[in-house]
Amino acid sequence: MKQNEILSNIHLNEDNKLVLTDTDIMIDEIGDNHILTSVDTPMRSDAFVLSEEEKIAEIEKHFKAIMDTLGLDLTDDSLKGTPRRVAKMYVKEIFSGLNPANMPKIALFENKYKYNEMLVEKNISFYSNCEHHFVPIMGKAHIAYISNGKVIGLSKLNRIVEYFAKRPQVQERLTMQIGKKLQEILGTDDVAVVIDAKHLCVSSRGVKDDTSSTITAFYDGAFKDEKRKNEFLKYLELNTTF
Ligand SMILES: [Zn+2]
Repeated sequence: MKQNEILSNIHLNEDNKLVLTDTDIMIDEIGDNHILTSVDTPMRSDAFVLSEEEKIAEIEKHFKAIMDTLGLDLTDDSLKGTPRRVAKMYVKEIFSGLNPANMPKIALFENKYKYNEMLVEKNISFYSNCEHHFVPIMGKAHIAYISNGKVIGLSKLNRIVEYFAKRPQVQERLTMQIGKKLQEILGTDDVAVVIDAKHLCVSSRGVKDDTSSTITAFYDGAFKDEKRKNEFLKYLELNTTF
């Protein structure tokens, strides 16, 4: 199916969100083309009515049903703990970034040395999961910002990447969510984010492309200027020998 055929099956609802027609073909196409419908992670308003423990109990039950349907013998010693293990991993680890309560606490510091150049933190490793297939996305995030009088602890940049990565994700959304959150925290538009990632749904299944990676970028404020943007990209090319 061509992109415009897919798009013809998409319309805007009253909240200006894209609505997609749910046919099997559409479901495959949306996944394989990694179509993004909104910058915010689509969540229901009652997303946190259940406690973590209640969610774990529910997911355990449903994951057990999936394994059972596949014909796996859940009385086997190796398999019987899997539904609960998966449920705990979903709620407490790999999808913990869905809960705003898990947003890292960020303290800012005064830019005492009046450092007015860009600060770059590159090669921030992250693990996420594709929201279309629920298999891993792994990659590196590179972040730059120019201080507007405040600076952020370097480890907090890693924490922010990790928080947004721990959701079912689309790479474009991950990139924008990190960029916009940094702008909000730092009180400046001058933020750039580049993400280079490998999607296991592309390499381990589907088209089975094991060599490609996907690059997405967010440039705003001063980084819309070609010189600034190129300076940032040059730093990413620097080989570090440590
Ligand atoms: Zn996928």
